[in-house]
Amino acid sequence: MPTATKPIYTGKAKDIFETEDLNVFRAYFRDSATAFNAQKKGEIHDKGKVNASISALLFNLVEQNGIKTHFIKQVSENELLIKKVNIIPLEVIVRNIAAGSLCKRLGIKEGKILKAPIVEFSYKKDELNDPLLTRAYIKNALEITDDKTLDYITDLTLKANEIFKDFFLKIGIKVVDFKLEYGFDKDGCLLLADELSPDNFRFWDAKTNEKLDKDRFRQDLGNVEGAYQEMLKRVKDGSKNFSAQSSILNPQSFSVRVQVLPKQDILDPQGQAVEKALISMGYKDIKDVKIGKEIVFKVKAESTEKAKFEVNQMCEQLLANPVIEDYKIEIS
Ligand code: C5P
Repeated sequence: MPTATKPIYTGKAKDIFETEDLNVFRAYFRDSATAFNAQKKGEIHDKGKVNASISALLFNLVEQNGIKTHFIKQVSENELLIKKVNIIPLEVIVRNIAAGSLCKRLGIKEGKILKAPIVEFSYKKDELNDPLLTRAYIKNALEITDDKTLDYITDLTLKANEIFKDFFLKIGIKVVDFKLEYGFDKDGCLLLADELSPDNFRFWDAKTNEKLDKDRFRQDLGNVEGAYQEMLKRVKDGSKNFSAQSSILNPQSFSVRVQVLPKQDILDPQGQAVEKALISMGYKDIKDVKIGKEIVFKVKAESTEKAKFEVNQMCEQLLANPVIEDYKIEIS
């Protein structure tokens, strides 16, 4: 049982407890299972232990590949220590193979391999049944966040998808689809949060297409517990090899060009002064002068994706001031 007595938050499958540190929580994974927005309820024996352990291993996997997460460490069979984050109320879903709600919505046959991975956003709101959102809904109706953050989340999510597909293929698993959640920590840093387990991923055996995830519970396929245990076994096996594999990856050198400019609606005194001077010199048709900077450098990374991801983080944290400046990254 968790050490604290009363959770500050009780979710469908997890309880969150405070710790002595204001910025650290303890997540206790229960065996309870729900589906179809909690219309179907049940228990899966030892699911809490399995999901806590798989989540810990997968959070480590993505962290080692440069994605920041809320995960600190696993403190007991059912419990993870996590950083406190303000969860963005979006369910970020990635699909590689058609299944679930995509098939229902579009009348596509389950199992169709999608031409490219799809990232979609749903509103995390049980009362509304987590409706699918457009970008305009997110930005202009709900005012949850802006284009830049959505782009960043999409990049991170596609990167996570590549990491997962690669890792799971080696343990004989196809990653059909999954749901991620993100949040901001006390310093405003975007972190991957929630859990990474057969509760929020669809996993199919690569040879037989046998379902090894919560669909066994949703669709009454039987042997739910066995499927979860099988996934834990495979993820543990895959993780043993992971460190060795990542150290032999061969980084390449990339040329990077970052262009930083004041945002369109931000006052730019330098730009205004130059505009005035040019007009007084006779260049009367000139307008909207903005003065920025260009930063060029070389960076070593295992892939263009990883280089892009790292440069994006550099821009967010140092090279640009995202509140008042826009930036453009070119990598070759
Ligand atoms: O139901 P749907 O096909 O939209 O689910 C896509 C993926 O997102 C599945 O892997 C499912 O487990 C996950 N999901 C989730 N929580 C939700 C909705 C979907 O974990 N509330």
